Amino acid sequence: MASVGAHRFAQRLAELRARVDALAAGRDITIVAVTKSFDESHVREAIAAGAVDVGESYAQEVVEKWRRLTEDEQRRARLHFIGRLQTNKVRLVAPFVALWQSIDRPELAERVARHAPDASVLVQVNISGEPQKGGCAPTDVAALIERCSVLGLDVRGLMGVGPAGSRDATRSAFQSLRSLVDRFGLPICSMGMTDDLDIALAEGSTMVRVGSALFGPRPEKPDLRH
Ligand SMILES: *Cc1c(COP(=O)(O)O)cnc(C)c1O
Repeated sequence: MASVGAHRFAQRLAELRARVDALAAGRDITIVAVTKSFDESHVREAIAAGAVDVGESYAQEVVEKWRRLTEDEQRRARLHFIGRLQTNKVRLVAPFVALWQSIDRPELAERVARHAPDASVLVQVNISGEPQKGGCAPTDVAALIERCSVLGLDVRGLMGVGPAGSRDATRSAFQSLRSLVDRFGLPICSMGMTDDLDIALAEGSTMVRVGSALFGPRPEKPDLRH
């Protein structure tokens, strides 16, 4: 899929930033530009437009895209890994990841600690109850945070994906994530995507992960033709 063009992208990013700031009631919100399934030209555009935080979901894509970026681009971007991650892929992506947002089980934390000692992580919580969504059960959060700390990982916060259902269901899922973040006294509450970022910001998100509002509809399969 062709990129939307640097100018168009910069405009969309500025519009999103204005909207997020208006909804955030004075809080400082990080926007993660989610480039999963889009080729590296989109990542370049995002970086050129000043989007420092970039989100990816697939290990193989990270490796292929990131090595096509210049060193300068790699330095300027902060890569957030936001997808389900197999333990055997951790080593591959470790050189590129700045924030591991999808730590959802002890084995994954152990592998990250081995290949990226002292890494910054978020514990992903399954706040929707949908089994196909990633994340640990809310009742397992305390133990997983503890395990990460023992391993030397820096737990910066929690991440969650809202349920597919009604706005009320989304709101109560986000409220439960926010109350967990507060209970553990963590700085980052990563919740809210294109369709539910208004609810997420109203419920105390500090970090939204936005793909389609910035880049348009995603190609079905990762676009790595070249
Ligand atoms: C794809 C994805 C996003 C971005 O989704 P949009 O609806 O395109 O904004 C955010 N978070 C996670 C975990 C994702 O997988």
